[in-house]
Amino acid sequence: MPQNQQILLDNRPQGEAVASNFKLVVSETPALNEGEVLVRHHYLSLDPYMRGRMNDAKSYAQPQPLGQVMQGGTVGEVVESRSPKFAVGDKVVGMGGWQEYSVVPADQAGMLRKVDTTHVPLSHYLGAVGMPGVTAWYGLVKIIDPKPGQTVVVSAASGAVGSALGALAKARGCRAVGLAGGPDKCRYVTEELGFDACVDYKQHQDAYSLSKALREAAPNGVDGLFENVGGMCLDAVMLRMNAFARIAMCGMIAGYDGQPIPMAYPQLILVNRMKVEGFIVSEHMEVWPEALKELGMLVGSGKLRPRESVAEGLASAPEAFLGMLKGRNFGKQLVKLI
Ligand code: NDP
Repeated sequence: MPQNQQILLDNRPQGEAVASNFKLVVSETPALNEGEVLVRHHYLSLDPYMRGRMNDAKSYAQPQPLGQVMQGGTVGEVVESRSPKFAVGDKVVGMGGWQEYSVVPADQAGMLRKVDTTHVPLSHYLGAVGMPGVTAWYGLVKIIDPKPGQTVVVSAASGAVGSALGALAKARGCRAVGLAGGPDKCRYVTEELGFDACVDYKQHQDAYSLSKALREAAPNGVDGLFENVGGMCLDAVMLRMNAFARIAMCGMIAGYDGQPIPMAYPQLILVNRMKVEGFIVSEHMEVWPEALKELGMLVGSGKLRPRESVAEGLASAPEAFLGMLKGRNFGKQLVKLI
């Protein structure tokens, strides 16, 4: 059996996460039992939610255990099989973790899913046609539920979730407005992702100034906000929201390292009779088939052209992960393992 490089969570962050929280080890892959398959990972997904799990804190999911392989989504190929459900050569998506190989009890429901790479590249099953894409779909369709002509804003617009949100909103006849950090990301959001406008939040010192810039990008106000960031970005959009607007609370990345991100204008929820709803995509597995179908068609037809930041080799995962938390990624952050 092949040797397997793995990255473990070695110790928990004290404030900001750092590379020394992780540890690279090499182990043997165990022999397969009946019903198991050996998957060689081609790509590892790095996602902001992993930062929350590094803390030993109460949350919607259990903390990542110390001394164990970091959990995470992977795509790869079955290289050995003792399951009738999977053949050698099958391309699969699963939760293989930060390692080069995983042994998967393939008979258990939901552990491993075969994917078709004829029209969609394998890596996109970790992004636009995977968990981040379904996240955008759920928040937009089930919470914001926009009508054609309404304005939808998303923060972290150039990222894995934000880019899918833009394509889904445009497909529903909405005005799509992004917030992103820097001119390159904003240009990508409008020119390649097809958003109607994008505001560079880094050009603004405070929510009031950012809100003024949003007035031009969203002249009819904001009917739906898909919130990925929190803090100044959230406050600025709140100031522009219309009566009966909806906010899908998806992420609060501005506070993931423990920074306080107080909400400046909660009274606007009342004044504008707004709906604010948080959600976790893995708790809504019932929508995944419908969402993945639409996302696959958007990618296959070229209406959604997701960008990827690809780090090379497992050892690069910690730095790539920490960089993503600071916005150094441009599109879906992946690690290429093969
Ligand atoms: P991205 O690919 O968007 O990467 C993160 C981006 O966040 C960075 O590129 C950066 O973009 C932006 N960012 C980081 N820090 C800040 C900050 N302080 N202020 C403003 N922007 C910041 O990640 P994903 O698309 O994978 O995830 C987006 C959000 O969705 C995250 O909050 C994540 O936790 C959440 N999520 C929630 C799920 C759920 O079930 N609720 C499921 C999946 C994701 P920029 O350079 O533009 O600032």
